[in-house]
Amino acid sequence: MIPKDFSVTFLGTSAASVSPHVSTSACLVRAGDTVLMVDAGIGALRQLHRAAVDPGEIDAVLVSHWHWDHTGGLPALVKARKRAKPLIIYGPHPHLLSRIYLSVLCPSIFADFVTVKAGSSIDFKDIRAETIATVHEVASVGWILAEQPGGRRKIVISGDTRPVESIVAAARGADLLIHEATFLDRHAEWAVLSGHSRASDAARLALKAGAGALALTHLPARYTAEEIRAEAGAIFPGVLLASPLETMAIDTAAAEDHKQGSGWAKIRLIVPPSQP
Ligand SMILES: [Zn+2]
Ligand SMILES: [Zn+2]
Repeated sequence: MIPKDFSVTFLGTSAASVSPHVSTSACLVRAGDTVLMVDAGIGALRQLHRAAVDPGEIDAVLVSHWHWDHTGGLPALVKARKRAKPLIIYGPHPHLLSRIYLSVLCPSIFADFVTVKAGSSIDFKDIRAETIATVHEVASVGWILAEQPGGRRKIVISGDTRPVESIVAAARGADLLIHEATFLDRHAEWAVLSGHSRASDAARLALKAGAGALALTHLPARYTAEEIRAEAGAIFPGVLLASPLETMAIDTAAAEDHKQGSGWAKIRLIVPPSQP
């Protein structure tokens, strides 16, 4: 049997929007007929168009937390759906300012909102989504996305968080851990103060969990890709850096290829043709 496609397409991978061309956290996870967007940061709708995905195809949005760089694209996305079908948004309890601000921009944004807590699970047709407890400046969760029914492939997305053991537990047996890497070691104290992780933290968690592959995201402009890759790669060889409009497809590996340690998952990179 041909395995159902199971993939993640990154829409935005930047920690902060520094130019009109930069997009912040958003990605699409697909399995079979199910398409989920995880976070909808600044530029999410523009990136969706560039990826040639109709907003109407998205079954739901899973939010990690309500900081603007993860939810700023929601008003445009909800409006783009028009009345075709409601866009159900799952996420932790939004803080008051976000709720007010987003509601002003798009009055119907919370019409189909479902609050989740750590340990919540939602069954979509081809994906089971579960939340992970994370530690950030505001209420936050990570997401486990496993193909279903009966599939064994799974992706874990950290959202913004300090390095936490709950991510290790969630990433055990995961084909791909997508973890934020907002800082490098020389700014370790900034990571603590702002509730974020270093690239090396993400690498250590992936190694401890025996994740099949590690992709770093939420990447700041202050570091070069080479610096980030070097620092994380010294701990978890073969680390991937997420980049916008790139797809990572998880191919079913033969059981004998699965072993504890780094890099056992077969991740196929699908790089889009360069666009103006
Ligand atoms: Zn945040
Ligand atoms: Zn963020």
